[in-house]
Amino acid sequence: MQTHNLIAGQWTAAADGATIDVTNPATDEVIASVPRGGRDETRYAIQAAHDALPAWRARPAHERGALLRTLASLMLRDADRLARLMTLEQGKPLAEARGEIAYAASFLEWAAEEARRVCGEMIPASTAAKRILVLRQPVGVAAIITPWNFPSAMITRKLGPALAAGCTVVIKPAESTPLSAIAIGQLSLEAGIPAGVVNIVTGTARQIGAEMCDNFLVRKLSFTGSTPVGRVLMQQASKHLLRLSLELGGHAPFIVFDDADLDLAAAAAITTKFRNAGQTCICANRFYVHASVHDAFVERLAAATERLIVGNGLGEGVNIGPLIDDKAIAKVEEHVADATDRGARLVCGGARVRVSGCADRFYRPTVLSGLAPEMKIAHEETFGPVAPVARFETEAEAIALANDSEYGLAAYFFTRDASRLIRVAEALDYGVIGANDAAPSTAQAPFGGLKHSGFGREGGHYVMDEYTEIKYISWGV
Ligand code: ADP
Repeated sequence: MQTHNLIAGQWTAAADGATIDVTNPATDEVIASVPRGGRDETRYAIQAAHDALPAWRARPAHERGALLRTLASLMLRDADRLARLMTLEQGKPLAEARGEIAYAASFLEWAAEEARRVCGEMIPASTAAKRILVLRQPVGVAAIITPWNFPSAMITRKLGPALAAGCTVVIKPAESTPLSAIAIGQLSLEAGIPAGVVNIVTGTARQIGAEMCDNFLVRKLSFTGSTPVGRVLMQQASKHLLRLSLELGGHAPFIVFDDADLDLAAAAAITTKFRNAGQTCICANRFYVHASVHDAFVERLAAATERLIVGNGLGEGVNIGPLIDDKAIAKVEEHVADATDRGARLVCGGARVRVSGCADRFYRPTVLSGLAPEMKIAHEETFGPVAPVARFETEAEAIALANDSEYGLAAYFFTRDASRLIRVAEALDYGVIGANDAAPSTAQAPFGGLKHSGFGREGGHYVMDEYTEIKYISWGV
């Protein structure tokens, strides 16, 4: 297993040899160590990406696409190995890790096809003596910073379109999950993607991020992570007016109307709330249920929640793995304690679970009723397996409650009324809407947020805008 940084096609250590341990969150076992890179290593990687840029952008688009398709097929070939590696460093159940590898590969396949559809335009001029020709060209070197909750997919969602557009990249994965990133780097070389097109630097986030923003050779930064770090990067990016895509935090509402299919809604609630132990930016954070179906929904939700199996992600049949670290589980406890102190009722869960042979980092999936706006859990991302439920009386009230958030990433609602479906979807201030659907994210859709959830879209043909510049030629003939 490779554990070094990838710079100009070479596997390299940090200049001073410093390393960071990568630990298994389920057991605290050290599974590898990776370079503790900083400004210098990032500068070398940016230079390598810059040097590789002219040849890469000059490659015909269908060749770049073919290389991306090869990379996708290598990921699928190695799906079992990559999934196991992901579970070891991130903790999610193995079945979810396998699903993420397929999902990650789908972004590369999609981008491979989009590569050949980056088209310009000829616009009629106002005189017969001119033509106006619009070109779309790669922005140049793209910096990519990714989080730990989806260690592979958050990389390929950026890497695929960047390479398809003709950009070269420097990737900084999260400190806790560098191995999945390094494995993708290794496969990119095996796929035949030239040295320097994909570079990976692990290490001290603040230094790497600062160099990415200060270095004028970087022309694009795509970040997925927390809103506070997004703000820091936006400030730093102002120096060179660096183009940004920011996919930040979320606080998704989940509305169940009185005409909803309650079995469908309860099953969807389990999917969106408890996937990855609730550590996803689009997972439902707060449930609003019409008063007439509230008790029936909570009963179904609690029954399904109690059936979930908590354990080491490598274990057979496990649904909920560990939280990523001690801070994460402490935050979950704080949110549950704050909610119950302020009057919420514990329907099920509400405590840690000891898993034999494992670290004390597992939380029992939890349902709370009596959610109220003054509770922390109503506004702050919990990033854990807790489903707080409130009741509402009218559609207008549900929409107002749902929109009462600084975030605007994903929202879910369940109804069988087609008119209500479009009315509510239009009224929700969110970039991604799951209407009778708990899994809206897919390679062909334009994923992204509003308000403090950031800006820019990933997926679909829209993502190509993030990595291309528009230029026009006013052409006298
Ligand atoms: P999370 O809550 O998901 O850990 P973060 O925003 O802290 O979200 O982390 C997302 C990514 O941003 C990680 O790769 C992390 O190392 C990186 N990061 C954190 N702080 C900075 C920073 N100051 N500059 C650049 N990247 C950063």
